[in-house]
Amino acid sequence: MAPPSAIDPAPEVTAITDTTAVTLPDFLAAPIQSNEIGKRRRKAREGQWGIAAPSDTRDFRFRSYEGKPKAKRWDHYFSHEARVRKGNRLKGAAKFLTSKPGIISLGGGLPSSEYFPFEEISMKVPAKGKFSEVETKESGVVITAGKHDLVNMKSTYDIATALNYGQGSGSAQLLRWVTEHTEFVHAPPYQDWQCTLTIGSTSGWDMTLRLMTRPGDVVLAEEYTFSAAVETALPLGVRMVGVPMDSDGLIPEAMDELLTNWDLSDRGSRKPHVLYTIPTGQNPTGATIPGPRRRAIYEVCQKHDIFIVEDEPYFFLQMQPYTGPNAPDVPPPSSHAEFLKTLVPSFLSMDIDGRVLRMDSFSKVIAPGSRVGWITASEQFIQKYQKYADVSTQNPSGISQLIMFKLLDEHWGHDGYLDWLIHMRMEYTKRRDVILRACEKHLPRSIVSWTPPMAGMFHWMQVDFKQHPDYPQKNIETIEEEIFMRVIDHGALVMRGSWFYASEDDAHDTLFFRATYGAAKADQIEEAVRRFGEAIKEEFKLGEGTNGMDNGH
Ligand code: PLP
Repeated sequence: MAPPSAIDPAPEVTAITDTTAVTLPDFLAAPIQSNEIGKRRRKAREGQWGIAAPSDTRDFRFRSYEGKPKAKRWDHYFSHEARVRKGNRLKGAAKFLTSKPGIISLGGGLPSSEYFPFEEISMKVPAKGKFSEVETKESGVVITAGKHDLVNMKSTYDIATALNYGQGSGSAQLLRWVTEHTEFVHAPPYQDWQCTLTIGSTSGWDMTLRLMTRPGDVVLAEEYTFSAAVETALPLGVRMVGVPMDSDGLIPEAMDELLTNWDLSDRGSRKPHVLYTIPTGQNPTGATIPGPRRRAIYEVCQKHDIFIVEDEPYFFLQMQPYTGPNAPDVPPPSSHAEFLKTLVPSFLSMDIDGRVLRMDSFSKVIAPGSRVGWITASEQFIQKYQKYADVSTQNPSGISQLIMFKLLDEHWGHDGYLDWLIHMRMEYTKRRDVILRACEKHLPRSIVSWTPPMAGMFHWMQVDFKQHPDYPQKNIETIEEEIFMRVIDHGALVMRGSWFYASEDDAHDTLFFRATYGAAKADQIEEAVRRFGEAIKEEFKLGEGTNGMDNGH
C-alpha cells in the first residue's frame, strides 16, 4: 500500500457534520463530556490532517467571536527581524497540495513514510479517573498509534503523518485540542486570538524576545523571577528590571510608578514595552496574583501600552486552601465547573486588547520531556511566531505530538484531562501540606518566615539575616552563601534567593531560600526541612530544640 501523504489529501474522518459556529450554552455550567465535544466540533477543512498540511485554528473554536473587539496591532514593537522575515517558501507551498484534488507532489523534500522504521507505537497510560501509578500498572489502558491509521480511517493522526515534516504551527490534530482547551478555560474576549504549538515555554520566551525586543531594551518582571528567563534575555542585550512584589505577587502601583517616572537618560534605555510575568505559583516565590490585582496590572499595561507575556506552567497546580497543621483536608472540587471556577482568572481571560501572549506548557502537568507547549496571542503575533518557527524549531517532535494527541484527544478527552488536573491539584496539595507542616515543626519562626503557597511547586522562605550574629560585619551575600553551604553540609539542597534576582544591579535587602515540594517523597521532604532547620539554628547560634525566640538579637 502506498504511504499516505499530502499529495492525496487525507479523508475527513470525524463524524461531525454541522458547519455552523456553535456557541456552547455555558462551558462551565455543564460537565465537559468528550462525546459532547465530538458532536460540537465543526467539520474541519479537508486535508488539514495530512502531512505538513497547514491548519486554521479558527476552525477549532466553538464560539462565534463576531462582535468582539479585534486585537491591537503591534507593528510599533516588532523587532527588525520580525518585520523582515518573510517565512519559509517551501513550507508555504504545502497549501497548494490541498487546493486541487489529485495533485501529485514532486515538490517538498519530505521522505516517504515507507522508510520510517516504526510500524506501531503503543503506550500504557492511566485509565480515565484511575490516575495513580499503582492503578496504572494494574489497570492502565494500552493505546496504539499505527503507521497508516489516517488512510485506514482509524484515526485522524498516525505515524506516517506525525513523523514527517510539519508546519511551524504544529499538527492540526493537537492544535485543535489545545485551542478547544484554551477556549474552555480562558475564553479570550477578543476576536482574532489563535494558538500555536511550541516546544515549551523556554523556547516560547526566547522566540518572543527575538520578535519583540532589540538589544538595549529593558523588560519588566517580578523582582524575583525565573532565572532562565533572565539568562535567555541577557545575551540578546535585553536586561530585566524588577517590579516590587509582595506575597500576592507583582504590585501594580509600583509598576505604574516605575513606568511613569521612567527616564531614558537615567536608565540608559527606552521605556519598557514588555512585561514578563509568572502570575500563578510564581517561580521562585510561589506567589499567585489574585484576580482583582491582575485587573489592576492589566490597566497599568493599557495605560503604558505594555505587551504582557504571561508564563503559566503552574496554572493548573493551583491547590486547595491551606487550613493549618491539624485542620481536616478540604474536599476536592465536586465537578469540572466547580474546579474551573476555583482557578484564578488569567490575563488572557481579561484581554480585550490582544496585548497578552500566554505561554502554556505540558511540562509541569504531564511531562517536561514531552517538549510540547503552546502559546495563545493575537493572530498578528501568532503569524510572526509561526514564520519564525518554520525556520527554527519547526514544530514539537512528531513522536511527542502523537503521544499527546493519543492521550489527550482520543483517550482522556477534555473531561478526562480535567479529571487528571483535579488529581494533580490534590497531589500537590498533599505535598505542599507536607512541607508546611515540616516547616512549622522544624524551623525557628523568629528567623524564618513564609506564606503558604497556593499554587505551583515552590516554597519561599525568608530568613531574617539582620539577626545573624555576624551582621553587619558580614553582608547579605556572604550570609546567604554561608547558610547555603551549611545546609549542604547538613545534607539538603535549597536554592539561593539571589539566583532569582530579575536584575543584579538593583539593591536587595531581603534574603530568601527556595525549596520545592514537587519531587522528593514526603518523608524526604520532612527530613530535608529538618536539616535546613538545623543549619539555620547553627548559623544563628540558636540552642537545640529552640524555636528561636531566645535568640538575643
Ligand atoms: N517558565 C517558568 C516560570 C518555569 O518555572 C519553567 C520551568 O521551571 C519553565 C518556564 C520551563 O518551561 P518549559 O519546560 O515549557 O520550557
